[in-house]
Amino acid sequence: MATFDLVVVGAGIVGLAHALAGARRGMRVAVLERDARASMASVRNFGFVTVTGQDEGATRRRALRSREVWAEVAAAAGIEIHQRGAVVVARRPEAFAVLREYAAGSMGEGCELWDAGETIARMPQVRQGIAGALSSRHELRVEAREALPLLARWLEQAHGVTFLWGATALGIEGTSVRHGEGVVEGRAVVIAPGTAVAAFAPELAQRVRLRDCTLQMMRIASPGADFRLPSVVMTDLSLLRYGGFAAQPSAAALRERATRECSAQLAAGVHLIVAAGGDGTLVVGDSHRYGNLADPFSSSEVDELILGELQRLMHVPAPRIMQRWLGHYPVADVSPLLSEELAPRVRLVSVTSGTGMSTAFAIGEETLEWLEGFDFPTRV
Ligand SMILES: Cc1cc2nc3c(=O)[nH]c(=O)nc-3n(C[C@H](O)[C@H](O)[C@H](O)COP(=O)(O)OP(=O)(O)OC[C@H]3O[C@@H](n4cnc5c(N)ncnc54)[C@H](O)[C@@H]3O)c2cc1C
Repeated sequence: MATFDLVVVGAGIVGLAHALAGARRGMRVAVLERDARASMASVRNFGFVTVTGQDEGATRRRALRSREVWAEVAAAAGIEIHQRGAVVVARRPEAFAVLREYAAGSMGEGCELWDAGETIARMPQVRQGIAGALSSRHELRVEAREALPLLARWLEQAHGVTFLWGATALGIEGTSVRHGEGVVEGRAVVIAPGTAVAAFAPELAQRVRLRDCTLQMMRIASPGADFRLPSVVMTDLSLLRYGGFAAQPSAAALRERATRECSAQLAAGVHLIVAAGGDGTLVVGDSHRYGNLADPFSSSEVDELILGELQRLMHVPAPRIMQRWLGHYPVADVSPLLSEELAPRVRLVSVTSGTGMSTAFAIGEETLEWLEGFDFPTRV
């Protein structure tokens, strides 16, 4: 039986990012995935690789690095970049005050402020009455459900990564992984299980109070041939969810106003992200519901809250919903990342902040640096 340098459990974006980081160091890598293809958070998200608005520090640094890797990988693996940049449209003056403070600070690099007139001139889909916008050039947007399979295929073909699809890891013995049909021998193991941390480390999951966050998402039909969004769009309530914005002093006034005007949205964790596909369809979301068990049920009231936010911001008179889906990511007392050595050369890595599409490639590189500490044989 072949022995691999690195065995990765989970073919979500975090698992694939570790596979890439290992392969770039010349390692022989195997990836085990319990499903026939990636089908969890990594294909249910916006595909929005976000820098602006991320928490200052490690998350922003990881997002900047991961965005670079996404650009390299997308070109090599034939992954289309559907949108570039982000525009945060402030509907309320309090939101524009947050954007002004953000733009003036160190994280505002690569961003510019637009007044209301310039925003509407550049984005005629946006309704009158807004206060202005912040435009960021950092972001990329891929269609996650297309990108993940292309990335896996490219890792296989260009980097010789071995994939075992439909192989559920049942246990780790030393640095080998037992699955339903045998054992994959490795010199190191990275477990990237998304929400399924407790299956590998129940005490860890309990210690960090691992919970699930459930999000509602929709795809709506193209609102018209002239409705084009070159960048992903967000608006006021996003400023209260993204740590980099929420840390600005003016965010307190925005929160106070939102508490009065948007209590239902805040209770459901609703804010607005609008991402566009090459076919003109829009991916719109989302909401955040926290609990000990991934919630299987979606709520039409929450969909209406999301669509209400969309319609107050943009001219989309009769949104036609083509698809609805739920996504889940883990949250814990340890955030933004749970990265724990379970045994020598065995590490569990799970993003506990809903930022994995934006940060996974950098996290993979960090984990591989940790393996260097074991005098790990590589063939670069
Ligand atoms: C609706 C939604 C929207 C989001 N939007 C964004 C966004 O726009 N930008 C952003 O940066 N982040 C976003 N996120 C967060 C991002 O999607 C996640 O942080 C990221 O996908 C986590 O990747 P992962 O590989 O850890 O987890 P997952 O994608 O859940 O992958 C884990 C994999 O491990 C496999 N697995 C588990 N147990 C086993 C086992 N025993 N054996 C074998 N395989 C196993 C699972 O089958 C799964 O394929 C969003 C999340 C959701 C849900």
